[in-house]
Amino acid sequence: MPYKVFEEYNMQVTDDVKDRYKRIIEDLGEDTKRDGLLKTPERAAKAMQFLTQGYHQDPVEILESAMFEESYDEMVIVKDIELYSLCEHHMLPFFGKVHIAYIPNGQIVGLSKLPRVVDIFARRLQVQERLTEQILDCINDTLKPQGVAVVIEASHMCMMMRGVQKQNSITTTSGFRGQFEKIETRNEFLKLIGK
Ligand SMILES: [Zn+2]
Repeated sequence: MPYKVFEEYNMQVTDDVKDRYKRIIEDLGEDTKRDGLLKTPERAAKAMQFLTQGYHQDPVEILESAMFEESYDEMVIVKDIELYSLCEHHMLPFFGKVHIAYIPNGQIVGLSKLPRVVDIFARRLQVQERLTEQILDCINDTLKPQGVAVVIEASHMCMMMRGVQKQNSITTTSGFRGQFEKIETRNEFLKLIGK
């Protein structure tokens, strides 16, 4: 399934989720007949489908659609890719930046495809650790570069708004394959992204 703007909502899913949201809002003590809340269950149902659309998209297909033979074999870095995802423990957002680097091995990929791969995995219920690995493995297995590196820095609303209420803490995860397992290559990448 190609990556495209999410416009078509599954009517059956929207209806089912809408009814459940209505009950949830009532259980939380609200009046769903209040003016501002009349269409909220439907809006929430659609928003959640949008935020989890990654289940129906194939990141491998996205990468394969824009791979080109090229002899360039220096490090390629795309940094500061915006990230918005939902933690699978609380279904609350976590958000931040993703930095990706790879060293080509005969093939390069269209640069805009890397943020799309991030979105496809991020628009699912996630933990930051698995998200990091999935992006890493997808690029490694599909593009088969000499090496790939992924760093994610994110703030988690489930930490900021509830529980420990550590409002300024940022969680960093990283993963390295191939050439990036060498300390010099890894350090060059970290330096280039300002870490
Ligand atoms: Zn959480």
